[in-house]
Amino acid sequence: MSDVSGSELRALMARVPSVEKVMASAEFAALIGDYGRTQVLGAVRAALDAWRASAQAGDASVSALDIARLHAAVEVALRKRNASRLRSVFNLTGTVLHTNLGRALLPDEAVQAVMKALTQPANLEFDLATGKRGDRDDLIDELICELTGAEAATVVNNNAAAVLLTLSALASKKEVVVSRGELVEIGGAFRIPDIMSRAGARLREVGTTNRTHLKDYAEAIGPQTALLMKVHASNYAITGFTKEAGLDEIAPLAHERGLAVAVDLGSGTLVDLSQWGLPREPTVRETVEAGADLVTFSGDKLLGGPQAGLIVGRRDLIAKIKKHPLKRALRVGKLTLAALEPVLQLYRTPEKLLDRLTTLRLLTRGADDIRLAAERVQPALQRALGERYAVLAEPMFSQIGSGALPVDVLPSYGLAVRVAGGKRGGRHLLAVEKLLREMARPVIGRIADDALRLDLRCLEAADEAQLIAQLTEHLKGVKA
Ligand SMILES: *Cc1c(COP(=O)(O)O)cnc(C)c1O
Repeated sequence: MSDVSGSELRALMARVPSVEKVMASAEFAALIGDYGRTQVLGAVRAALDAWRASAQAGDASVSALDIARLHAAVEVALRKRNASRLRSVFNLTGTVLHTNLGRALLPDEAVQAVMKALTQPANLEFDLATGKRGDRDDLIDELICELTGAEAATVVNNNAAAVLLTLSALASKKEVVVSRGELVEIGGAFRIPDIMSRAGARLREVGTTNRTHLKDYAEAIGPQTALLMKVHASNYAITGFTKEAGLDEIAPLAHERGLAVAVDLGSGTLVDLSQWGLPREPTVRETVEAGADLVTFSGDKLLGGPQAGLIVGRRDLIAKIKKHPLKRALRVGKLTLAALEPVLQLYRTPEKLLDRLTTLRLLTRGADDIRLAAERVQPALQRALGERYAVLAEPMFSQIGSGALPVDVLPSYGLAVRVAGGKRGGRHLLAVEKLLREMARPVIGRIADDALRLDLRCLEAADEAQLIAQLTEHLKGVKA
């Protein structure tokens, strides 16, 4: 197999510069300045080892290694190694709250607050009035209570943590009554029955998948019952011959028997979204008013803030939850609190919410406005992909995402890429999908109905300019 004879190999090896010589060379000085000696030395050794290994294996493509070629290889390796793994992308999937792409985008107020919290000490757990130790929930619980009408509140890492903590604190070794129609699995391994057992609680299923009546709950209550629980179906809908016992029925039953009702609201919006033409969801305040003793919801779904889990409700129950050892393990960091507070404050000015809360602005963006964006981006994408593809601006439907309102779609607009000439072309579409995904700032769309679809709802002005520039840049690279 060897195309390189023994003597040729020895000659090639003899000409390889020594590590010392490479590191001292003028060519490598700038790299050492950028990355430091330690990393450059490691990369040089790795490149030399790789070259020797392929030379010894008789790789026909091996040729003499000089400092210039070594420099090029080492520079690429170092750039790759030091590039951030967490990268900005263009979310053109049409799903606004995309869990895999980081859910809610935060408004500038939150960005500024996080910057401060990152670089300056803060009164995270320090009571400025007394000079004594404070509680991090104090920074934010009054604001949450004001916006939800609850007596008390606490914040943890995410809503899964909020549910786990609530069940652990209030229902360990006891029973929790849940309808069979609400035993949901959210993506990423959050399943109500599993969380229940992890919390040490016993799930007492009642009713059937499609129909659960108040009397099902009533008959399940016994000496072991700790809680009645309702779970927002989030990512599915049961339609047809259905019956669900509402919170307004379940809460009085629970209270009559001296029990509490917990509601996992999932997305948990703080305002009625139907005022802006969005589908209607029960708000946290309505849920509290309807008699829930505890409500848990996410910070980064419809609320539009950072990843967090909020628990609101009765003062005595929240106090119990805060005393549980898991609270310490699931607590939020200062960056989360820094970001959450200004987002919640935006809700105090509902008149401006639409404009200032990024999530809401994206969800309510009109299809006409998105169409104009599609028409502006279309020529750049068509030119970048060339004549083998047809790029058309077309109506599409966006989704809210993150299990919020799964059956409702939002009229939107975007670009559809098809193989030119009306041919079906799964393979070619996959190639375009990959090309876009591998750009400097990856472009993420979705393939459906023989087209690659790029929904432009989430492409606001600055990003639009950047996308057009990137597509234009790509074309230059192809032509060169
Ligand atoms: C999304 C969701 C969760 C999980 O919330 P995270 O914030 O992702 O942990 C739990 N329950 C319901 C009903 C949900 O919709």
